[in-house]
Amino acid sequence: MRQSAVRIMPEKLKLLTIPNISLCIPSCSIVEFAGLSDLASSMYKVMVENSGVGLAAPQIGYNIQMLIIDKDPMFRQSQLGHFACEDFFCLVNPTLQPTKSNKIQIVDQEGCLSFPGTRDKVDRYEEVEISAVNVKGEPSRFIIDGLVATILQHEIDHLVGILFPFRSSSSDTWFKYSKNKMEMDRCLSVMQKNSTRTCGHFMVSNLLEFCEENSIKFDETKLARVKKYCG
Ligand SMILES: [Zn+2]
Repeated sequence: MRQSAVRIMPEKLKLLTIPNISLCIPSCSIVEFAGLSDLASSMYKVMVENSGVGLAAPQIGYNIQMLIIDKDPMFRQSQLGHFACEDFFCLVNPTLQPTKSNKIQIVDQEGCLSFPGTRDKVDRYEEVEISAVNVKGEPSRFIIDGLVATILQHEIDHLVGILFPFRSSSSDTWFKYSKNKMEMDRCLSVMQKNSTRTCGHFMVSNLLEFCEENSIKFDETKLARVKKYCG
């Protein structure tokens, strides 16, 4: 007879989708790196289960500045090698700026796991310079263009609370979700406040202030997750 063992299971991460207001809240800078690598691996599972190529921590209910992208052979490992984990790359506290030599914007069809079943044209910089630390807290910077640059711009937007249809010139994508019009309008108005924000230093006190200003209830579980990594 098989004996059933009692095991403490790791928390099952759940993909958040619009109109969850947590997706519109800016994320905090990470200062504590213990356990981050395990969290990134759990994020990778969620990404693969949902057939994505990138995922940002707020999408699984962690408002912390961390993102992962798939370690696809077509992605340039030479630039991203510093950020390599087992099956993916992980960037912590990333900041981004368009390169001086190339500020041309490109137009491509984007999608987002938090906005299921929707694709739209979004303007993105063709080439960007990214600074970030890896899961161990070691810094590096690199210049990248093409598809990976687009994915990284999309994921870094998540870390300031911006979802891709907000960057689209047409508002159609956003309002396809009219059955949740009230919640969608609320997300949109919060996102409007983030529109000029760049990813940078953001502390737990800033997060609490932001939530209070916008009458957002940030529940205890989510706050505990942020405090664990962001002090
Ligand atoms: Zn997304």
